[in-house]
Amino acid sequence: MQSFATTFTSPDSSAPYIGRFAPSPTGALHFGSLVAAVGSYLDARTHGGRWLLRIEDVDAPRSVPGAAEGIIATLARFGFEWDGEIVRQSRRSAAYEAALDTLKAAGHAYPCVCTRRELVGQPLARDGSRRYPGTCRGGLAPRREGRAWRVRADGVIHFDDAVQGPQEIDLAADAGDYVVRRADGLFAYQLAVVVDDAEAGVTHVVRGADLLDSTARQIHLLGLLGAPVPAYAHLPLATNAAGEKLSKQTLARAIDEHPPQAALLAALRFLGQNPPGTLAGAPLAELWRWAQAHWSIAAVPHCRQAVADGSF
Ligand code: GLU
Repeated sequence: MQSFATTFTSPDSSAPYIGRFAPSPTGALHFGSLVAAVGSYLDARTHGGRWLLRIEDVDAPRSVPGAAEGIIATLARFGFEWDGEIVRQSRRSAAYEAALDTLKAAGHAYPCVCTRRELVGQPLARDGSRRYPGTCRGGLAPRREGRAWRVRADGVIHFDDAVQGPQEIDLAADAGDYVVRRADGLFAYQLAVVVDDAEAGVTHVVRGADLLDSTARQIHLLGLLGAPVPAYAHLPLATNAAGEKLSKQTLARAIDEHPPQAALLAALRFLGQNPPGTLAGAPLAELWRWAQAHWSIAAVPHCRQAVADGSF
């Protein structure tokens, strides 16, 4: 049984803080991603920490040409300042391959021939995927060759999320053995995010609560790879009035269509901060100064999702 008690360091802690924002370039930045960018940025800066930017284009077929550049330009226009080089997952296959080799060599990963169709009827995991029943766990039938790779997932993961509170996930009962390399040869998000965060020395992960259900698998993988586990804070996910996650699919407007001040103030309010309305007409630098001076993660609503202001 694995248990991880991760806690947020206090702003005066001497431990170096490394945070990050890791958008997937599947379209323009929308309000939901802006909320994650603002929360992770302010938390890093108020801890005197570094804030890294990583483009999560590991799923190349889902990446939209030009979207990464658009997101980077929007962040710059909104006054975000990231540290160091921007990392792009599409250029990091060698690192993912090495991590997979480590998992294979230790017997943690095994090949799998199951198709998605074969899993229909299995119970749903918290993230909506089908729980894997372990069909290929004991080895493949002769002459069958697995194209996907899964990791054996046993144990209960505990972690204390700075916004969502204590979490307990039984890996086998939830998603079961999970995919780290897909049948199409692409590395799975779970593997890429863990390898990237570990290599960059990320100490604090602040992101949307849609990823809360992935966190147990990521903590599990970090353990198998011998990497330290960061502290987590999952911010409420912004939805439309129908309760759907804001995204290109739900026709969320690009955040670029709004004045930066108005969008940033809306993101701060969504995060439970209480910025004065006068900042709407102030220079961006003044807005950021106020936000850093007043940021409080304790004020972020403790819910998994919340309805965004209708104009977003
Ligand atoms: N790329 C993911 C997204 O855009 C975020 C992953 C993460 O922060 O770990 O939803």
